[in-house]
Amino acid sequence: MRFAKLFIVVFYLYSISCNSNSIKTRGSNITPIPNLPLYGSDTSSPFVKYVPDYNKKLQKKIFKLDDLISGYKDDKLNQKYLRAVARMYPKVVRYYHIGRTRNDRPIPALRITAPTGKMDEKVSILFDGAHHANELLSTEHCYDILYNLLSDYEKYRKYLRYVVIWIVPIVNPDGSNSFWHKSIGTGRKNGYTNSSVQNNIYYDGVDLNRNYPFRWNSGIPKASSADANSAYFRGLQPSSEPETKAMMKLAKIERFVASVSFHQYASCILYPYTIPDTKNPEPDYAKDLAIRLANLVTVYRENKKFIALKNIYAVDGVDQDYFYNKYGTLAYIIESTHHNVDYRYTRTILSGFKPLWERLIRESIIGKKIFLKIMDVNTKKAVSARVKIDEIQFFEKEKPRSNPKNGLFYWLVKERKEYHLKISKKGYYARYILYKALTSREPQVIYLNLKK
Ligand SMILES: [Zn+2]
Repeated sequence: MRFAKLFIVVFYLYSISCNSNSIKTRGSNITPIPNLPLYGSDTSSPFVKYVPDYNKKLQKKIFKLDDLISGYKDDKLNQKYLRAVARMYPKVVRYYHIGRTRNDRPIPALRITAPTGKMDEKVSILFDGAHHANELLSTEHCYDILYNLLSDYEKYRKYLRYVVIWIVPIVNPDGSNSFWHKSIGTGRKNGYTNSSVQNNIYYDGVDLNRNYPFRWNSGIPKASSADANSAYFRGLQPSSEPETKAMMKLAKIERFVASVSFHQYASCILYPYTIPDTKNPEPDYAKDLAIRLANLVTVYRENKKFIALKNIYAVDGVDQDYFYNKYGTLAYIIESTHHNVDYRYTRTILSGFKPLWERLIRESIIGKKIFLKIMDVNTKKAVSARVKIDEIQFFEKEKPRSNPKNGLFYWLVKERKEYHLKISKKGYYARYILYKALTSREPQVIYLNLKK
């Protein structure tokens, strides 16, 4: 969020969305929750001041699943809980460090999938939070998904047969440490101070969500800043920060078919491309799905709707546009509806988003799509081939390819019709096929022949 400008944005969203005096009602008996951060106007204390049982939680030896929804988490509690969950569900959950921060903290992640189904035909979906580590509710969105998947495992097992869910609740552990243990005026950025730039405690480090390489430093006014003291400091180079690199590396391996990066609290879903002057493919499936997803959210806040937008203000170097451009990931940013409210309200706020993330996972499984597994005919090994789809037009040099790890190529489409595909790879004979996009859960195997 952008501080002074946020007010204008909030007011704008309010004015365009508020065509009646009541809040959006889905179901019944919706009581609005005021958007008051737990710490009021105090911006100097560390957040831990508002969590009197922090040390007790950190030291607690016994773990139960409900601990996941017992309060906000800093970097240490996050590590503790994710490790505990992996120990509790060894067949379903694995704990990883996807990288290390500037200050050498691990960036923990969980990989969740059912032990059933064909592992080499599963596609991956990412949920992450706390690129901006002062946005505590963004982490809780990730925990809410984790908690639901595990506490209601029998229900979700049918999804987890087909997909792998990755969860990175705190992308920015250094920022989290700063927010919790130094001052709540910090934590948006990653705390990295380069000797060539002068930082102060409140504007420490790089805004990770301006540091991704796609259109980094685009020149668009106010999209990011070269000033190290700015809250939107993009870093000295594209993907200069280890946290950014860690996310890029994970995406390179997994080629996520969909992702959600949680932020707060403009109450909207941002679809790619969110950077101004960047043109979406035609037909624009990412936008189409975003509008459908937005309609599923219940907002527990007065005079507030949840809407789909390209952007709320100019940005560049953001994660979602990088993932979309590089891997075709349906990469969304979700701006939650509230700021860091009293924790007892969070269960209700998060419940309003459940139909959204469930639909996103479901759509990944049963949506109409082009789904291939591209292999070498002789070795039967995966091939990373370029797939050109005649019926989809690109404008930003996108070059969709199959994943070298498993040969999977996956592309959701709007229409159930036939698509003309050209599948090519240097050294192989190209193949031209007419592919009927269906809701099939299994890929069609395509063999490529090496040129003699
Ligand atoms: Zn944010």
